[in-house]
Amino acid sequence: MKLINKIIRLNVTAALIIAAVALPHDLGNAAVDGASAFRFSGDGHLKIYNTHTKKTISIIYRDSQGVYDDEALKELDGLLACHYDKKQTEMSLKLIELVDYIQDHFAASEIQVISAFRSPEYNSRLRRRSRNVGKKSFHMYGRAMDIILPGVSSQKLRNFALSLKSGGVGYYGPGNFVHIDTGPVRRWSAL
Ligand SMILES: [Zn+2]
Repeated sequence: MKLINKIIRLNVTAALIIAAVALPHDLGNAAVDGASAFRFSGDGHLKIYNTHTKKTISIIYRDSQGVYDDEALKELDGLLACHYDKKQTEMSLKLIELVDYIQDHFAASEIQVISAFRSPEYNSRLRRRSRNVGKKSFHMYGRAMDIILPGVSSQKLRNFALSLKSGGVGYYGPGNFVHIDTGPVRRWSAL
């Protein structure tokens, strides 16, 4: 029995080491215990549709042991690339878990992404056209997504996101996307 326990513990340790080494994403040294190290986390499965490229991916980015799949995360980074110049970044795991949590809450079939990562070049281009675009937009750091959930009104999505008190929530009107980010808790309405 003792030996078996030791082997199990070694395997768990190995899994944690693999998770830590294989993760350039922003998990840092956070403990991977149970499902996720974040306050809000989904079921580890995401179906995301990019409205610009019309690409959909359905992916398991984290298993039930809390181990992230770096290949899957890279695929997500690719799907969420800047649609202006195709540059990409390592998207925030906290954000990925948060939108997964929101998708699971509404049992939405997928998340439709209007905008995720924005390169600094694209962000300054947008800033010249709209006063609603921040100089230090969280989109530039892979920490924001503008999303629509099919079958869920933007009001409902906004209200639920606000209730989590987990970051920024921007509302752009009925039928429009809702901005979700992992910055400080704040809200705005662009109506
Ligand atoms: Zn946004």
